[in-house]
Amino acid sequence: MFTTLNLLSEILSPAHICPYDQACSYLDSAAKELKLDPNLITILSHPRRAITVSIPIKLDNGDVQVLVGHRVQHCNVLGPYKGGTRYHPAVTLREISALAMLMTWKCALLGIPYGGAKGGITLNPNHYSVGELERITRRYTSELINDIGPAVDIPAPDVGASAREMAWMMDTYSVNVGHAVPGVVTGKPISIGGSLGREMATGRGAMIMAREALALHGKTIADAHIVIQGFGNVGSSVALLLHQAGAKILAISRSSGGIFSEAGLDIPALKAYADLHNKELVGFPGSVQISNQDLLVLPCDVLIPAALENQITAENVSRVEASIIVEAANGPITLEADRALESQGVMVLPDILANAGGVVASYLEWVQGLSYLFWHEERVNREMEGLMVEAFQKVMKQSKAQQTPLRLAAYALAVGRVAQAIKDRGLYP
Ligand code: NAD
Repeated sequence: MFTTLNLLSEILSPAHICPYDQACSYLDSAAKELKLDPNLITILSHPRRAITVSIPIKLDNGDVQVLVGHRVQHCNVLGPYKGGTRYHPAVTLREISALAMLMTWKCALLGIPYGGAKGGITLNPNHYSVGELERITRRYTSELINDIGPAVDIPAPDVGASAREMAWMMDTYSVNVGHAVPGVVTGKPISIGGSLGREMATGRGAMIMAREALALHGKTIADAHIVIQGFGNVGSSVALLLHQAGAKILAISRSSGGIFSEAGLDIPALKAYADLHNKELVGFPGSVQISNQDLLVLPCDVLIPAALENQITAENVSRVEASIIVEAANGPITLEADRALESQGVMVLPDILANAGGVVASYLEWVQGLSYLFWHEERVNREMEGLMVEAFQKVMKQSKAQQTPLRLAAYALAVGRVAQAIKDRGLYP
């Protein structure tokens, strides 16, 4: 384990433009709006803990490889840390630190009793066998064994990870403490205490946000033309739900390329096609190939980035033609592009609101796990929808009252809640 001091100085070094700087810049804007005490900003702009671990694993060919994993715990003033675990070659401590801070705001905005955290391993999961991925996940979990737990920090899946990895994490933790602990992770399989509705929850939340935003434009989902970047957990769920509600999905992409159909894509058929073709979308009957760059600038009612950070940038923002952007991914719009979209009159539903369906359903899963009482899917969906719509309305009200963009309104609500909790709890010692 490296020293936290070195890691924090790496995260906070002013020398680079990095995701953490971008996250701090949104915090600063909210703090200015709220006229927050600068001492509170100092506290909130530092993650409470940053843990980096070596993950030595034996490959199937007998060689040993050492991977690097992180877990950053930003703030736990409102409750246990909560956040996903990312398996991606571009994972860095800075990225994970930024995402941990976003989680703090997301939980606070939705009014759920969690703090923010995020984890990640720098690897391309496609380059490892299932057995290797299991050994990587188990070793990563065991390196973090004293830092996670149902009352401490509760991981969930993020890019490149799924219910399968959560089952391995839950099992590793449980074996180490000597009894089954379903509440240590969320997003796990139903067979071991996962919640009905969790798998589709982030996509469902994004669909609800698209529906509410369209209603403000006098439209319904059934009238809408939609473009989606990413066809993983979030992208495929939101696509399916919007398709079921009658939307025309014009284009969808994944990392290796996208597809377009003027008539609209049949999403269940596309999902079946991708399952048969190693996740590839290109070649789907009735569609033509489109690049990710061209997809982002297609004319549409709603653009849903559901892949990775920094997709809409200063370079392509002026060509964006969507009326509404629902940030299903975390941080898909850079700071500069965000300002440009505001002046272009594009309604942007910020990530801390738009993709919060996942953490809300995770919270409901954790509550069910702690109480050993499991709910029907309708109840999970209903409770999640209630919290999402309430947060949407609060953000709209704040934005209208303060004449601020939706992102700033959402941040002001979230940061204000966390700041108040810090003030009420006081600074120890
Ligand atoms: P995933 O790994 O299941 O899917 C990611 C998808 O993005 C894949 O289809 C991949 O091919 C595609 N992709 C990657 N790079 C791309 C690129 N440059 N252009 C186009 N497509 C690209 O991940 P996920 O869980 O669906 O997460 C997607 C986003 O949603 C991430 O930003 C994640 O942090 C965010 N998010 C996820 C959840 C969740 O519950 N899984 C919750 C909140 C937020």
